[in-house]
Formats: sequence, structure tokens, C-alpha cells
Amino acid sequence: MDRVFNYSAGPSCLPIEVLEEVKRDLLNYKNKGFSVLEMNHRTEDYYEINDEANSLMKELLKVGDDYQVLFLQGGGYTQFSTFPINLAESDDLTLYVKTGNFSTKAYNEGKKFTNAKVIATSEDKNFSYIPKITKDMVDQNAKYLHICVNNTAFGTCYNTLPDTGDVPLIGDMSSIILAKNYDIKKFGMIYGGVQKNLGAAGATFVVIKNDLIKENDKIASMSSYKILADGKSIFNTPPVFSVYIVGLMLKWVKKQGGVESLDKIAKEKSKIIYDLIDNSKFYKGTANVYDRSPMNVTFLTPSEDLDIKFVKEAKENGMINLKGHKAAGGLRASLYNAMPLEGVNKLKEFMNKFERDNKV
Ligand SMILES: *Cc1c(COP(=O)(O)O)cnc(C)c1O
Repeated sequence: MDRVFNYSAGPSCLPIEVLEEVKRDLLNYKNKGFSVLEMNHRTEDYYEINDEANSLMKELLKVGDDYQVLFLQGGGYTQFSTFPINLAESDDLTLYVKTGNFSTKAYNEGKKFTNAKVIATSEDKNFSYIPKITKDMVDQNAKYLHICVNNTAFGTCYNTLPDTGDVPLIGDMSSIILAKNYDIKKFGMIYGGVQKNLGAAGATFVVIKNDLIKENDKIASMSSYKILADGKSIFNTPPVFSVYIVGLMLKWVKKQGGVESLDKIAKEKSKIIYDLIDNSKFYKGTANVYDRSPMNVTFLTPSEDLDIKFVKEAKENGMINLKGHKAAGGLRASLYNAMPLEGVNKLKEFMNKFERDNKV
């Protein structure tokens, strides 16, 4: 079978150039006589991989030495409970915005460990929009405000970041890292799994401001940003191969012109599908137009039966993973950085044909 176009929300497609480099070097990395899969993490070889991924991440996100980059295990999900215990005590006020399944999970973890409060939600309209957050909603006594920057399941993202005053802003950027040109310096911390825009499953990235990293001997060592940062992400065995792929992805991102360039490309790619949806009476977008995500395009056909048929026929035509998230239903095309324009155009042609063939 030929390679298909993979619109999976995560783990997702990787650039063919990256996969080819992995393949070329798999048995004999840089002519060292062994594979990265076999690499000891306390060697110069791995320090080089770790350091390079670290500095490229800072360079591409345009943050200075007042931020630390960590590559950890446990996924985005582990961070839902890690940042609360690092940044707040159990009676400290922490703030959350609920815009979908992941931000709700983050809040549910946060309230186990802190005095967590939801200041805004879009639950009333099935998470189809991003609620307005004004500065007066942000209690300046709070230890942080958490947002999910891109809602992978519901296809929405923040176009403007909330002004939180002196309260650190924490952003789950799992599905939009290096794809939209946010000013990362507005965040106290961002984090996410790497398996969407940044590589293969395994590693989790955390980019955190130094002044939020504090010693705390009451929490588990593996949860302590201080210990993990002091250990330069090698406190224990890191996900070596996954961090290696992150490094390759970061070099690929740099070659594409960095985040500004990928932001523009992502807008153009997603516009192709959004324009089709807007000009069609058959398809219906589920996200509020202004809040639409350039990464996850969520939409419906006129019926659930047609949604199922769409997914099935797309697969027969070499386009996989177009089923929507179970929390949102319908259809979803994830158009991450690694999705080539060719894949977007192929989806557009298929959508047009499917509409013609199934018009009611
Ligand atoms: C995928 C995703 C996660 C889940 O991360 P895991 O690595 O599976 O723990 C969290 N948040 C968002 C926004 C995601 O898209």
C-alpha cells in the first residue's frame, strides 16, 4: 500500500524527510555504530541530542535564558497535576478556563490539589467558542490562570491571549506548538505532548519561566520542576528516541522558516477546508468562525450516517483518521505542520465529490 494522508489528531503524521532521516540513521546513528534506540542517556551522544533540542526549542519559540525547556515523560495529562503541585499550595486560589475536554481534565486535576475556580466556560454551546476573558475576571491573588490554547477535539483556539496582569498564564499547547505565532513570553509556562506537532509519542515538553521553578521537598522528585530542571531533563532515563525525533522536527521547522512561516502556511491550509465548508450547504463547521483552529478542522455532514460513510470512503481513498473526537462527534481533519498541502487539496477534492454523490 502507498503512504496515505493521515489526518489523525495525535499521534499524527510526520514529515517524510524526518521519517527518511530516521530510517537512514536507524541502525547506525551518525556512523557511531549503534542506534539511538540503543543509546545510553548519560553519554555525550545523548547530551548533544538533548542540548540541541533544548536550544532549538528556545530559538524557535523566541524565549531567552529566563525560561527552561524540559522534555519529560507522562504526557500532557501528567502536567495537569504537576503544575498545580509545583505552583500552588492546597489552599491557594488557582484559575481555569473550560473550553473543552482537556481543559476540563486539567481543572479536575487542579482542584484535587488547589483551590481551583473556573472563571469562564463555553460549555453552554458545546465548547464551540472561546469565552472572553477580561483582566477584571483574573483575581490577582491567584497562583496562575490555566487555558487550553488549542482545543484539539472541538477545533477552537485563542486568537488573543488573555491579559492576566501579574498572574502567570499557563497554556496547554499540545496541538498548536510551533504552528501559531503566539508570544510565548506572555506565558509563565506552556506544555504539551510532542505527538501532535513536535514528533512521535513519548516525550512531553514544558517551557517554564525560571522564577516559577521553586524548591519543594514535599512533592515527589519526579514531579518537581526544580529537580527536573536541575537535572537538565536527565534526572532519570528520558524518552531518548522521542527527544531525538523532537530534535529532527525542530530542525525541520527551522528549515520551513520557523513559526511565523508555519503560522502563515497553517492559515492557508485550513482556509482551503474552511472556505469549502462555508460555501457548502452540505457541510457545517462546528466552531465559531472567529475562534477556529488552524490545526483541527471540525465539521459535520447532514447526518450521522453520512459522517460514517464519509470516514469509510475517505479511508478507501487513502485518507485516514477523519472521525471526530468522541466528545465532539462528527468529523475532524487535523492539519498539523507535517500535513502537506497536497493532503489538504486531496481532502478538498474528496469532500467536493462526496457532497455531489450524496446530495439530499
Ligand atoms: C492530546 C492532548 C493532550 C493529551 O496529552 P497526553 O500526551 O495524551 O497525555 C492534552 N491536551 C491537549 C490539548 C491535547 O490535544
